[in-house]
Amino acid sequence: MNCEHCHRAIPDNLLDCPACTIRKNDKAINEYQLPHLRMVMTGDKLITRKQMGHEIHVQLFGVADKAFCGATLASKHKRDRMRWDPEQLQRLCPSCRIEVERAMRRAVKGFECDFESLPANNA
Ligand SMILES: [Zn+2]
Ligand SMILES: [Zn+2]
Repeated sequence: MNCEHCHRAIPDNLLDCPACTIRKNDKAINEYQLPHLRMVMTGDKLITRKQMGHEIHVQLFGVADKAFCGATLASKHKRDRMRWDPEQLQRLCPSCRIEVERAMRRAVKGFECDFESLPANNA
């Protein structure tokens, strides 16, 4: 049987197309970040970051073992929280920074706060 969406062959032992299931899941996770990121921007929530070797990754909201860049985060890694602070963002894993900034742009789009003109954060 082939998937009606992406036309890939679906293995006989599965009901749903694995590729589409992953994509749907990723989309749901991406959408889930937006309200949380808005709260980060307004200072009502903090970003969780995890150090893995030399890289500091940003943990996805609602997915404890996954970073914005796609890296898998084990619970043994050192974890702390940060405010939305451009200086701190510079120290993050470059892929995480790109992804979290991209998501933040989407999150605040159409809302009162303006991404570019925001202060580092109220200390
Ligand atoms: Zn499919
Ligand atoms: Zn990362």
